[in-house]
Amino acid sequence: MSELRFKSVMEAASRKAVNVESPEKRVEQYYGEKVFNRQKMFQYLPRPTYEALVEAIDNKKPLSRELADSVAEGMKRWAIENGTTHYTHWFQPMTGGTAEKHDTFIEHDGKGGVIETFSGKLLVQQEPDASSFPSGGMRNTFEARGYSAWDISSPAFIVGNTLCIPTIFISYTGESLDYKTPFLKTLNAIDKAATRVAKYFDPGVKHVVSYLGWEQEYFLVDEALYAARPDIVMTGRTLMGHESAKNQQLEDHYFGSIPSRVEAFMLDLEIEAHKLGIPVKTRHNEVAPNQFELAPVYEEANLANDHNLLIMSVMNEVARKHNFRVLFHEKPFAGINGSGKHNNWSLGTDKGRQLFSPGKTPEENLQFIVFLSNVMNAVHKHNALLKASIMSATNSHRLGANEAPPAIISMFLGKSVSELLDNIEKNDYEAIKVRGKEELSVGLNQIPEIMIDNTDRNRTSPFAFTGNRFEYRAVGSSANCATALIALNAAVACELEDFANRVDKRLASGESKEKALFAEARENVLKARPIHFDGNGYGDEWIVEAKDRGLDIESSAPLMFDAYLSESSVDMFEKVGIFTRKELVARNEVKWEMYTKKVQIESRVLGDLAINHIIPAAVTYQGQLLDNLYKMRQLFNEEKAREIGETDLITVEQMADHINKVKSLVTAMTENRKRANSLESLRDKAIAYHDTVAPIMEKIRYHIDRLELMVDNEIWPLPKYRELLFIR
Ligand code: ADP
Ligand code: MG
Repeated sequence: MSELRFKSVMEAASRKAVNVESPEKRVEQYYGEKVFNRQKMFQYLPRPTYEALVEAIDNKKPLSRELADSVAEGMKRWAIENGTTHYTHWFQPMTGGTAEKHDTFIEHDGKGGVIETFSGKLLVQQEPDASSFPSGGMRNTFEARGYSAWDISSPAFIVGNTLCIPTIFISYTGESLDYKTPFLKTLNAIDKAATRVAKYFDPGVKHVVSYLGWEQEYFLVDEALYAARPDIVMTGRTLMGHESAKNQQLEDHYFGSIPSRVEAFMLDLEIEAHKLGIPVKTRHNEVAPNQFELAPVYEEANLANDHNLLIMSVMNEVARKHNFRVLFHEKPFAGINGSGKHNNWSLGTDKGRQLFSPGKTPEENLQFIVFLSNVMNAVHKHNALLKASIMSATNSHRLGANEAPPAIISMFLGKSVSELLDNIEKNDYEAIKVRGKEELSVGLNQIPEIMIDNTDRNRTSPFAFTGNRFEYRAVGSSANCATALIALNAAVACELEDFANRVDKRLASGESKEKALFAEARENVLKARPIHFDGNGYGDEWIVEAKDRGLDIESSAPLMFDAYLSESSVDMFEKVGIFTRKELVARNEVKWEMYTKKVQIESRVLGDLAINHIIPAAVTYQGQLLDNLYKMRQLFNEEKAREIGETDLITVEQMADHINKVKSLVTAMTENRKRANSLESLRDKAIAYHDTVAPIMEKIRYHIDRLELMVDNEIWPLPKYRELLFIR
């Protein structure tokens, strides 16, 4: 066995089972201890400052400079008492993940020493020299800086020695350079539009809040094995590797018992998460070997998303203490399930009413239908955009591959809601009204009973209604949830505003409220019919049918991104005030560039591994076989030698064929890369990488995986799937 593979396999195999001990303290004793939450604000801020800050947070008001200074002082005192030495503005650049630049608190004291200070100015705004973050040309490096500004709706927290301040990141001229800024804008847009519609039912509603409960899937790999796989280190996934004889076919991993090493990691992770005020709750094995899931109790969407990003970095840290590496890639291993990040999404009023929850009365259920039908309409109109919003070079491996998201966005509603919609379609309000008392009895009064049972869940749907929320399943495991939710929120906000305008028009002409609401909801249901699909999203028939229904069936990531620039998308984003056309153009440039770079890196790593690791090992083994054949010829007569050497000879020939194919394909891939690199437009480049580079990578992999089956196990240079995938 190659020395590196041998060492890493031995090291991983020598890890011992651990005793998982309960933490010394109860969770209530340390929950949120690393967060500057309201309790700490109350404790560390002067009373008037505390009150003004809470008022600003609750009513989304800006902070005055004076107030900011006072907040900063208290926050610094808390942070220093908790051992921090640095602070950072923590933001969400378009590269994905989070970014931070650390500064200490020190300033000259004018007497040759230093003091630790932290002013309101530093808390509220910074100019990180972030010129190398992608901006799609909105901020040329020589032209202007980016600004980060505190998002007061997300509390500051401590990681290690650093006070982290969640911020938005915008250009000098105000365009968003991150995910948080547009996300916050869409949350406000939803609040405004949904409140307007909720007021038809309860005039006392002041706000509508968006909620998010994410389910984070991930793989764990032993650190020693990880280090011996350059492809995982560089790209987050295996670019080669034959399936192991046993993988997920016995379905014995899902909800199976958790290996003790992994359980110890999970427990540590949960403690860290709880200290950071992240309410993680659920943990379990997933379908594939070494695949797991973590889910919190849902929260207000902006905070929930910050928590998701934060926990991804905490997971990386904690995993290393346990000699693991976390893989967030959507498809780290071929042949077994990949990872997603289901986004459970719902809306609720400040008065505690869940807007996607059927109620007990026809009136409450009319409200349910109004909101449901607007979401249907939004998802239908913008199905191409929603698909683009979950798309990336990494998530494209999951899409359309018979797991979670097919490359078509549709909506699953379940039997009871489907029946209700059928009735609504059939009956117009006038027809129902004739029946006197049973005015709204198209089924609107009996939803609660039938809704409780959610057993008809459909796991093949990318966007499923699950009783009181939608589960947006197509989102990738490595993604920032905001990418998907920006598109969804904006589309729904736009739809709700439009709906309210139509209803208001009817009301102005003297129609009754119920009649107007029912009629417009019914309009939505009729128009959005093609998006509703409860069947098998993985079947080939669905692609044909979806096309007939006019749904978008494009499966190439770079072409999908075009959906951001379609007239209907630009119009919608501008209408709700999320992005200007200029921002959309710039953000798409970033998407195409990121796509290209990811595929480019993978292609280079694959070429390198193929030529420098795989072929030499294959040639060595081929040489051994030939040597053997040659010796047989010396020992036996020609006929006998041919007879007993026949299979080896065939192997040598087959190997020669695979080796030659790998070589010529690597050459062709390099040529295609060169050609793609010479293209000017970022869009063309991404398309060229998708069409001419990525497919060759698949072919190279095929031949390498065949070689893996032939070459002596002793000399194969990389840890195999069976070694990578089964933590003991
Ligand atoms: P599943 O059966 O889909 O795997 P999980 O329990 O793993 O369910 O995750 C469900 C997620 O949905 C959790 O994060 C949970 O807090 C969240 N959730 C539950 N109700 C709502 C809601 N009304 N709005 C948003 N998220 C919700
Ligand atoms: Mg789950």
